[in-house]
Amino acid sequence: MNIPAPTGRGGRNIGRRDFVRSSLASVVTAVPASRLWADAASPGAIPDTVAAVDLSGKSISLTAADIKDFRAGLAGQLFLRTDAGYEQARKVWNGAFDRHPALVVRCHGTVDVIRAVDFARTHGLLTAVHAGGHSISGASSCDGGIMIDLSPMKGIRVDPVARVAEAQGGVLLGELDRETTAFGLATPLGTAPDTGIAGLTLGGGMGRLNRMFGLACDNLVGVDIVTANGKLLHASSKENADLFWGIRGGGGNFGVVTSFEYRLHAVGPLVLDGTRFYPYNQARAVFAALKELAESAPDELGLSAGFSRVQAGFGQNPAGLPPGRYVGMNAFHYGDPRQGLRLLEPLKKLGTPLLDAISAKTYLAAQRGDVGTGPVLLTPGLPAGMNAYDKTGYLRSIPAGLTDEIVKRLDTAPPWVLGLDLSQMGGAVARVKPDATAYWNRDGNFIVTLFALWLDPAHNEQNIRTARELWDGIEPFTKGYYVNLDTHNSDQRLRANYGENYPRLVALKDKYDPMNLFRLNANIRPSAHA
Ligand code: FAD
Repeated sequence: MNIPAPTGRGGRNIGRRDFVRSSLASVVTAVPASRLWADAASPGAIPDTVAAVDLSGKSISLTAADIKDFRAGLAGQLFLRTDAGYEQARKVWNGAFDRHPALVVRCHGTVDVIRAVDFARTHGLLTAVHAGGHSISGASSCDGGIMIDLSPMKGIRVDPVARVAEAQGGVLLGELDRETTAFGLATPLGTAPDTGIAGLTLGGGMGRLNRMFGLACDNLVGVDIVTANGKLLHASSKENADLFWGIRGGGGNFGVVTSFEYRLHAVGPLVLDGTRFYPYNQARAVFAALKELAESAPDELGLSAGFSRVQAGFGQNPAGLPPGRYVGMNAFHYGDPRQGLRLLEPLKKLGTPLLDAISAKTYLAAQRGDVGTGPVLLTPGLPAGMNAYDKTGYLRSIPAGLTDEIVKRLDTAPPWVLGLDLSQMGGAVARVKPDATAYWNRDGNFIVTLFALWLDPAHNEQNIRTARELWDGIEPFTKGYYVNLDTHNSDQRLRANYGENYPRLVALKDKYDPMNLFRLNANIRPSAHA
């Protein structure tokens, strides 16, 4: 598919051009991943005034004339609360954030994004940017503001000779993987195919290929980005290099990225991937085995170990693991699967697993969550619309006290706490200097992730409080956290998280978004808003 050349940049034609094997990946669930919302229907009449909310949270009114004008200039759709299709268009993956923007703009191209940013800035509207909609903190929607939605922007172009791929801002991981793997190539992305490349890459991007090739953001060659003043810029190591530094880990703070260009790497044809499940009472032994094996693992091997729950509803198990708690060891090996299996031989001391779902498969099958020739156990993603809570923290190593604490907390954890994992990072991620990109926590050799998911929104407050208390015992062992998998981004936490990169991020925010139009994210406040 060809990507249309962006306009507004002097006519320059852009032309050619693995989570943490994580809690999310290791949740055992039989519910198919599906978007619960369909594509939007046509819009209706415009009321005389539309109530909205400005950047400071104050109520404002938008006139029918303004909205009519805005709508007329768009190739995509503009949805008001009263329009058919609004309900579907406003939804995000995490059902815990049931928000109602005044306006939802489904952008069909770069020009729509520019017009939406101009409209938002001119009216001082609270502004959310939506791509794959997987924000755990619900930041891609808002109450009363404008949602700039890139999900219709699906262009992908792969250049197998130059080993680069260009993808528009609304592309999902599974869509990009499908195109690149057709040429035996891939770029490091996450592990849930229905996640957006946009939010994932801008915050870092963790998945199966990290230890070999770095984070998703480390593999960016350049981006096209609409900044708060409505200008379309290209950012790369040669052009707007300061901005290019900031968007690699700094999230959506600096503008709306309409197109990403990634470096590609040869993968496959086969990789080794999957999970071995052990009885829950072996948790300590499994964590110890992870620690030991991770210390000597080459970059080709990536491991994670964690708690998985199989339960009725969203935890059935067609292969015969009865409902209950398990501990899983997940492995990915880039390269010859036989070599991967040899590297896993030390795990034999754990005894025979209850279920061994580690097998050779194509990289695309691994990314989709397929389990080789066996029965499908792990779905490629998780169903949208449920209520989720997530916490993460980086670790230099795995202290004995931590695994004791994890097991102690899990012993009493409620059934909707689905995962608590320790995943290996390091490798190519750690070889990038912390100040080379905005992503600072390069020395986090492991990441610990808590993942909770429940059906009834009436339990949101209580469940978040309980999950938070569980996490309180684990957090003291961590240093820094992953901005893409957290709901609580206070100034103080962000300052510590970005370390010595923080002042440089503030300077960039002052330059590219001094009014803090893009504040619904892990927000770096410009000096005037500090
Ligand atoms: P959205 O909700 O659309 O956007 C999230 C935020 O990104 C927005 O609030 C905005 O600030 C910013 N943003 C989005 N699009 C743009 C854009 N075009 N320009 C500028 N800013 C933009 N993370 C991993 O690293 N690895 C994983 O394996 C992984 N698995 C996940 C699985 C699930 C089921 C979920 C829910 C999340 C997972 N995550 C993972 C976390 C994921 O990286 C973040 O939630 C990410 O923000 C999702 O991107 P999105 O485009 O889908 O989200």
